[in-house]
Amino acid sequence: MKENLNPYVISQMQFDQAADHLKLDSGLREVLRRPKRQMVVSIPTKMDNGSVRVFEGYRVQHNIARGPAKGGIRYHPNVTLDEIKALAAWMAWKTAVVNIPFGGGKGGVVCDPRKMSSGELERMTRRFVTEILPIIGPDRDIAAPDVYTDPQTMAWVMDTYSMTVGYSSLGVVTGKPVSLGGSEGRNEATARGCLFVTQEACRVKRLPLEGAPVAIQGFGNAGSIAARLFHEQGAKIIAVSDSRGGVVNPRGIDPLKAIQHKEKTGSVVSLPGTSRVRNEELLELKCDILIPAALENVITAANAANIKAKIIAEAANGPVTPMADDILTRKGVFLLPDILANAGGVTVSYFEWVQDLQNFFWEEEQVNAKLETIMKRAFREVHESALKYRVHMRTAAYILAVGRVAEATLVRGIFP
Ligand code: NAD
Repeated sequence: MKENLNPYVISQMQFDQAADHLKLDSGLREVLRRPKRQMVVSIPTKMDNGSVRVFEGYRVQHNIARGPAKGGIRYHPNVTLDEIKALAAWMAWKTAVVNIPFGGGKGGVVCDPRKMSSGELERMTRRFVTEILPIIGPDRDIAAPDVYTDPQTMAWVMDTYSMTVGYSSLGVVTGKPVSLGGSEGRNEATARGCLFVTQEACRVKRLPLEGAPVAIQGFGNAGSIAARLFHEQGAKIIAVSDSRGGVVNPRGIDPLKAIQHKEKTGSVVSLPGTSRVRNEELLELKCDILIPAALENVITAANAANIKAKIIAEAANGPVTPMADDILTRKGVFLLPDILANAGGVTVSYFEWVQDLQNFFWEEEQVNAKLETIMKRAFREVHESALKYRVHMRTAAYILAVGRVAEATLVRGIFP
């Protein structure tokens, strides 16, 4: 059977499994499985050479029953509306897994930021924000960084929104620079959350993290910081990669050297003391912990049987397909699903939003301690759900999340 790799179809399959276990009635099912709102915009942008290019952008709000929509903005040439719809749905389930008072949203622009100047990116970002302005805001829909967007992009989002409404609105976006109402600890939060739940998984699997070989695909915000934090805990980073390829050293790679090398050359490839490995090969390396931290659909029915890791922690969104899930479960791989494993980012985004609304800022220790409490609680609740329903961790996380959103939707009632 040919595997359907459309992320939106995949997100609905994942939802349906949980809805079956929860025996949701058909009306409620239809409400929860579709996005509440989708906006498609054209973004005319003056390029440095004087020409004008028109980019296509999206903002999708999947569900806001439990609070304002929340989710990142992705810049990538392969962005599609269906991908953003899937990412928005995953955000709705993710905020429910960690039980923070947000719904789910996501945005994206079809562009290749690696081929654009900073000025072009700034003008495109400001026009994109202006186009989606009617549906965003600190009480409506709060953006954040995702693939190829960063704190600088978020500062432009905040400034554009603020200049338009006429006052400084810190809470419209998270992942901002700390100098502009960003939170201490936000930059590391996705990777730190991933570490906390992996520590719990190691405890369940009776696998010491100390000395455990770890392979990481993707070396951006999620992947490079995960490499550093896992290394600090004594794990052995044996392979890392980015869009240009990967490097491996079974005796261990120093993440700080890899970060410096990437800063200098633009890639981890050719890091001294390592050999070259292709991105596909990296996934199949012999290791205890595998962290996909790049893009969707990298572990599919085609390669799942070759995975040798004992634990997979999905720092990326959607890296493993449903058919691969089944194969990995049969192999006894313990998988930490994206809506749990990378929820540290949105959790500290929630802290940032709370700090912005109160104009009262916390110390990094406080942020990290609260993050640890929430991530470990979420792990415990998902694991209990897995044991109760006799399902793998992804379906268990969906059962927990969909149940929470369904309950909020039911008590609110269908308007009018
Ligand atoms: P980023 O832009 O900081 O980094 C992306 C990395 O992936 C880069 O190193 C890039 O070279 C690499 N990459 C791109 N294409 C690749 C390919 N085909 N093969 C291997 N590597 C490739 O992005 P990020 O914020 O780290 O996001 C990575 C993943 O983590 C995404 O799935 C994102 O949705 C997810 N995520 C990020 C956050 C966050 O707070 N940034 C939170 C939750 C989930």
